Amino acid sequence: LAIINDILDISRIEAGKMPLTVSEFAVRDLITEVLAEVEPIIARSRLSVTSHLPDDLPLIKTDRQKVKQIVINFLTNAIKFTAQGSVDIGVQHVKDTDFMLVSVADTGIGIAPADQERIFEDFRQADNSPTREYAGAGLGLAICRRLAGMLDGRIELTSDLGRGSTFTVRVPREVKRV
Ligand code: ADP
Repeated sequence: LAIINDILDISRIEAGKMPLTVSEFAVRDLITEVLAEVEPIIARSRLSVTSHLPDDLPLIKTDRQKVKQIVINFLTNAIKFTAQGSVDIGVQHVKDTDFMLVSVADTGIGIAPADQERIFEDFRQADNSPTREYAGAGLGLAICRRLAGMLDGRIELTSDLGRGSTFTVRVPREVKRV
């Protein structure tokens, strides 16, 4: 069902039929909601999952559901690819550009430099072999990339193989198009 929904998401975006629903909201509330939804997976993982948000974060005006979908994808991937250690969610408002950054950092398996671009392609996984030990269809990040683009933002990745990864979604604090 998850894979069918992913394919439907991509088809909808490609067809220009994915609506943009803009509202003003607090990123803090969104992160609280994400952590509550992912809690069963966090509990099973035995990882320490934390969040660090500055007190003076301004409200953001964009598509709440799309930001949430991206952060859930980052977080579930971070847990999936981290056997031990921690996952930390960070939020930052860049005042001079008025962009909002939401990052998910893990201490997991990391991603080799050669794979760091490729994993954003449709159906692409760092290990595409049929015996790979991690489930998934390789569509999550392809969807995240498209969703971030709809919000005039982008996804950034820094990673060290064997040490961990940080996925960041960077979006304008206020989306301009409607
Ligand atoms: P899926 O998780 O279904 O395979 P994604 O598009 O979400 O699809 O991720 C694509 C690939 O990127 C994953 O299969 C994995 O190889 C790599 N990846 C994503 N997130 C992480 C992470 N936090 N740590 C290591 N590898 C990751």
